[in-house]
Amino acid sequence: MEQNQDKLKDIISHSKEYGFIFPSSEIYDGLAATYDYGQLGSELKNNIKTYWWKAMVQMHENIVGIDAAIFMHPTTWKASGHVDAFNDPLIDNKDSKKRYRADVLIEEHIEKIRQKIQKEVDKGRNRFGAEFDENQFKATNPNVLRNAEKIASIEERMKSALDNNDLEAVRNLILDLEIVCPISGSKNWTEVRQFNLMFSTELGSVAGDAATIYLRPETAQGIFVNFLNVQKSGRMKIPFGIAQIGKAFRNEIVARQFIFRMREFEQMEMQFFVRPGEEMRWYEYWKEAREKWHKNLGLGNHNYRFHDHIKLAHYANAACDIEFNFPMGFKELEGIHSRTDFDLKQHEQFSGKKLQFFDPEMNESYVPYVVETSVGLDRLFLAVLSSSYQNEKLEDDSERIVLKIPAVLAPYKAAVLPLIKKDGLPEKAREIQKALQFEYNVQYDEKDAIGRRYRRQDAIGTPICITIDHQTLEDNTITIRDRDTMIQERISIDKLEQKIAEKASWKKILTDLDKN
Ligand code: ATP
Repeated sequence: MEQNQDKLKDIISHSKEYGFIFPSSEIYDGLAATYDYGQLGSELKNNIKTYWWKAMVQMHENIVGIDAAIFMHPTTWKASGHVDAFNDPLIDNKDSKKRYRADVLIEEHIEKIRQKIQKEVDKGRNRFGAEFDENQFKATNPNVLRNAEKIASIEERMKSALDNNDLEAVRNLILDLEIVCPISGSKNWTEVRQFNLMFSTELGSVAGDAATIYLRPETAQGIFVNFLNVQKSGRMKIPFGIAQIGKAFRNEIVARQFIFRMREFEQMEMQFFVRPGEEMRWYEYWKEAREKWHKNLGLGNHNYRFHDHIKLAHYANAACDIEFNFPMGFKELEGIHSRTDFDLKQHEQFSGKKLQFFDPEMNESYVPYVVETSVGLDRLFLAVLSSSYQNEKLEDDSERIVLKIPAVLAPYKAAVLPLIKKDGLPEKAREIQKALQFEYNVQYDEKDAIGRRYRRQDAIGTPICITIDHQTLEDNTITIRDRDTMIQERISIDKLEQKIAEKASWKKILTDLDKN
């Protein structure tokens, strides 16, 4: 854990040093939990967006994308239930004066028990070696069984307390589990209170309730209110999806852990509209499709796990998270929710307008059911950064920091490096840079010895370095160096674009995704 916290610190400082992420308004000492993406960060972020958009919209003829406004009519949030129910239960520790989300304190307690189970399983694996059968071990080992029962009983109590909005019961659970404040170490807790997460502001010059509007806490509602506009203008037939990438705002009680939890963040959401009764099939379909999409990035399959929701949101009949192994442990990266017809029905009721689809095959109109996939762009950014950041010891005992970012997401796909700054090498290098620029973001660098330049590119995750030397002028060949293996290879300039495409093109990653 200690070591992982250190890793997060290293990532934060590396991000700043190389222009990925800066603390927001830093010259004024920053603003809590707010960050700016720098010159390389915005490239990486745009590439993540492109991977999502292309996989969702370009690769599916029945999914289209929109870009709705952040401000929406205030009744939207009455209808969606956010005004009344978009709350987190908060609790304060009287000694440290620190504020926590009560449900998160309990979840973290459960996670500790889960780790105990994992330790027991690891011990078993060591003891039994190749014979080891994990499922059988989990079903029979008394320690594992005892801890699994503990988890089940805590989860049941938490679910019932939250479902009944029984805040006293939530507090009692925290007391019974003897959960202590990580800062003060005490169990001196206040009552649990509900806290609404929406930011509000006022429209124009009119003050008062009538003019109160909200910064959207999710992008989904912009899709729901446009459901018929898109369906009609795009002549869409059920099942179909509407995708959107955009900012969302939540006044999080505890916004820590870098860009994992911010008050202003970006979501990539897709609402898939289906026939009533077919939602569970599509829910399973999208769970699998989204898992594949993540794993296709190559950040390591062992870094993902599914987590079914204990307490369902007010709109859902099934929900799960895809969790990622962040430096702080496994945490939610994406949510997949079966939202039923809740949102569209609510908007019908509050707006007085019909939001129905006439299904020609069934010869009837209905309010479609919705399956949603919702991934946090910033969390995905952190997943990419934290899993690709490596401090490697090399054969000659030196070290290098390398970002093994999936090539297609890397801010620069290649660096063009003339070996020396004279003899016509820079001119030749510029020619190559120019030719690649139409398709790829490439960087030119002629300063310092070649080894130092390689290290600089490693540190920002450039997958390919192209070196131009005197031989290049004679036979039109160049040396390309691979970021991950550091292997160098001499190839003809004619082959260069193809080499980059094999590694870092959209076609490559989307073809791989399609094959899986
Ligand atoms: P959490 O339980 O971590 O608060 P959530 O379940 O409220 O998240 P959703 O409402 O399902 O989150 O939102 C969908 C996605 O948006 C999440 O999976 C996450 O990736 C992202 N997200 C939500 N809140 C934040 C935040 N404060 N900062 C960054 N990303 C966020």
